[in-house]
Amino acid sequence: MHELAIAESIIKTVLDEAERRNLGPVKKIAVRVGALTDVVPDALRFGFEAASADTELEGTKLEIKTIPVVGKCRNCGKGFNVEEHIFICPVCESFDIEMTTGGELDIEYIEADDRSI
Ligand SMILES: [Zn+2]
Repeated sequence: MHELAIAESIIKTVLDEAERRNLGPVKKIAVRVGALTDVVPDALRFGFEAASADTELEGTKLEIKTIPVVGKCRNCGKGFNVEEHIFICPVCESFDIEMTTGGELDIEYIEADDRSI
């Protein structure tokens, strides 16, 4: 299961970061998932809950933001939303499309209690 491996990598990154920055308990993790990654948000949430059990991140809220696929035509320069994996320019019908967004798979931010306050 692809999403479980991603969830484990998110957990590892967040725990490393929390230690490095000496953060208190992490309350929320926001991740960005591009539509091109084929990651299913519900499966990722489930994987996160399973993988975070018995770690410091158990019960931490995982916010998943889905990023739509936006393409740009290399022929005429038009930018457009790609729906249902149809990579054709709506203006000139070229297939020469460059993806601008949609491949994201990263942590946008971490919300934690600050131990210094
Ligand atoms: Zn075009």
